[in-house]
Amino acid sequence: MSTDVVIVGNGISGLILSILLKEKNIDHVVLNRVEKRKTFELPETIPPSTLVLLESLNLLALFSKSASKTFGYHSLWNSDSVTTDNFFNHNPYKHGLKLNKKKLLNDLEALVTGNVMHFNNLIDIDRSDENVTVRIESNNVIQTITSRIIVDATGRNRAVLKHLGIISESFDNQVALSCHLPYFKHPQLIHPVFVESFENGWGIVSSLNERINGMTLHTQKGSPILPRLKEYRNWKDILSNTKLLKDFLADDGNCKVVGGKANSSRASQISGSNWLAIGDAAIALDPLSSHGISNAIYCANSASKAIESHVTNDTTTSFKGYEDTINQVFDEYLKQKMKLYDTVNH
Ligand SMILES: Cc1cc2nc3c(=O)[nH]c(=O)nc-3n(C[C@H](O)[C@H](O)[C@H](O)COP(=O)(O)OP(=O)(O)OC[C@H]3O[C@@H](n4cnc5c(N)ncnc54)[C@H](O)[C@@H]3O)c2cc1C
Repeated sequence: MSTDVVIVGNGISGLILSILLKEKNIDHVVLNRVEKRKTFELPETIPPSTLVLLESLNLLALFSKSASKTFGYHSLWNSDSVTTDNFFNHNPYKHGLKLNKKKLLNDLEALVTGNVMHFNNLIDIDRSDENVTVRIESNNVIQTITSRIIVDATGRNRAVLKHLGIISESFDNQVALSCHLPYFKHPQLIHPVFVESFENGWGIVSSLNERINGMTLHTQKGSPILPRLKEYRNWKDILSNTKLLKDFLADDGNCKVVGGKANSSRASQISGSNWLAIGDAAIALDPLSSHGISNAIYCANSASKAIESHVTNDTTTSFKGYEDTINQVFDEYLKQKMKLYDTVNH
């Protein structure tokens, strides 16, 4: 099989890139790895500013269909009093979206079903400056796909970059431990998202639906609380000095804790002569920023333009331009992040 572009990974960045390439009539496939494990559902939110980008891509109606509106959030970030950010001060959209990610991914995939290929294992990637050959295995059958360009949209796994020998730079060692709790509406809070910092970390609680709240606690690898955070029965003690976060905990000590990376990192190279990384594969942000999905959409849009230019003009300068832009975004993000954590550390 031969095509112009192979996108590996069918998260938000990979699927939006596919939708945008389809609109540009660029021949491509999205490789969707069939996951063996069920994904743990996280309550994820996108801010009002991202709705402008979605509207410009004609995707706002689709995102809204898989989401509920949210009108702000509260935080206790190294402070004694609760800060409230009300989205009604934002323009033109006075709300953000709390996503049902599973439904959203299904809806996005439905727009490009003809471009999606399911597979079990990525066997190898062979790249030269002329073309890229990808070998995948599906139900014991091996398929070979040859393309002009390959895109890494595999999130923090950076599966394509690993095959290409591209390393990652990590800017901290943050990890996230999440669990599902019975829904509880705090009497002192209006909005469904609340963030609080505490010694050695910070936590967020956000409703997943009318029955479940998702709580995620963040700390650094090597922190004294990390081993205890892995067991829910220790959370009450760890959060005992928090003002409001502790109120969301359930008495039932059987909640399953699921852990994962939540550090800030960047691929040491984001593009090459015929490859690009997008979304978390390019730059992975701290969940505190609430901008991971916005970045995935932004990268997919910028990459679609760079690929169009590459395919039509046969030039690689557009890929360099894409990389420079994403690096600038990340440099600005790092400055903002440093300011935010400085207020906790001093
Ligand atoms: C605890 C936590 C909370 C978060 N909360 C928010 C939030 O509130 N708002 C927000 O905007 N962002 C949030 N984020 C970040 C957000 O989830 C990500 O930034 C976003 O999903 C990145 O999209 P992506 O398409 O780049 O990658 P992903 O969503 O990770 O998608 C990658 C895809 O690649 C596939 N894949 C992986 N490995 C391989 C492989 N080897 N071969 C083939 N396919 C592969 C995966 O199955 C997946 O489908 C949060 C992150 C964390 C960790």
